[in-house]
Amino acid sequence: MSIVVPAFNEQDCLRRLWIELETVVREEGSSFEVIFVDDGSTDGTWSIITDLSRTNPEVRGVRFSRNFGHQSALLAGLEHARGRAVITMDADLQHPPQLISEMIARWRRGVSIVSTRRLDREDVGFFKRLTAKLFYAMFSSLSETRIDHGKADFRLLDRRIVDLLLSMSEATLFLRGMVEWVGFSQEVIDFVPNPRVGGGRSRYTLRKMLVLALAGITSFSVTPLRLSFAIGVVTTLLSIAYAIFAVVSALQGQVVRAWTSVVCFFSFLFGVQFILTGVLSEYLAQSIVELKRRPRYIVSDSVDHISPD
Ligand code: UDP
Ligand code: MG
Repeated sequence: MSIVVPAFNEQDCLRRLWIELETVVREEGSSFEVIFVDDGSTDGTWSIITDLSRTNPEVRGVRFSRNFGHQSALLAGLEHARGRAVITMDADLQHPPQLISEMIARWRRGVSIVSTRRLDREDVGFFKRLTAKLFYAMFSSLSETRIDHGKADFRLLDRRIVDLLLSMSEATLFLRGMVEWVGFSQEVIDFVPNPRVGGGRSRYTLRKMLVLALAGITSFSVTPLRLSFAIGVVTTLLSIAYAIFAVVSALQGQVVRAWTSVVCFFSFLFGVQFILTGVLSEYLAQSIVELKRRPRYIVSDSVDHISPD
């Protein structure tokens, strides 16, 4: 069993998380490893990981050369994991380690993906809940992949699924979508998230959330590009109707009061035009990123006691 934990400035959580994980997984009786992926932390996260691994051979650590983001950290964990199943979870104990036994039990019964669904708590900000709901509704209507808005990045993946994910070489990562895209039998466990341990705010800034949302849409749907064609057709038809109206009025000698109508018309068309260019640019930008084939993360250090088998 491999447990992958991305950590970005989580010095206050890791020791507690390790203690809870150790208790749960030892009871389970499987041999296991915990892979902490330090996503370019600027606090003491890495020294805690190296400390933990010095005293516990099950602890492995991978350190990024800078902050590459949660998705890249999850990917690095999956790439380094050696288990027959891999569990991914957050470092801040919002994902209760006690659920792991249930996840493993279901996996032993033959379920390839055991996902979890976060039940909303009132103290999760209204803004975050609303934007998440809106995003997943939009995502599901634009792409063929469906994602429930409560699905968390706390899940167990069978080795077969992990290998499939690793065979997908895209640079723009949206693992939530990739897991759904792969298919296979899946079971979902509901849980109530704990409050974040270690104080501080979510490491997911608004900016990081927006980048993730955009990556999700551009890498899972080309519908916006097709929509822009439909919008183009509609505005063209409207323009033709308007032109006919203008010509007929002119021929009848009732020239339309020009300035206001022209300003309204042009600003509307330019608005639409710029939105469509914006949509196109997003896809172009993503294509450039994909074409460059840069590594998806860079490891600067690692600690590992387990000899490769
Ligand atoms: N995280 C990361 N890199 C980042 C941001 C977050 O590895 O750039 C990790 C973070 O340490 C945590 C997990 O991703 O283990 C989820 O982050 P957080 O708990 O802050 O997000 P939230 O619970 O608000 O979704
Ligand atoms: Mg959290």
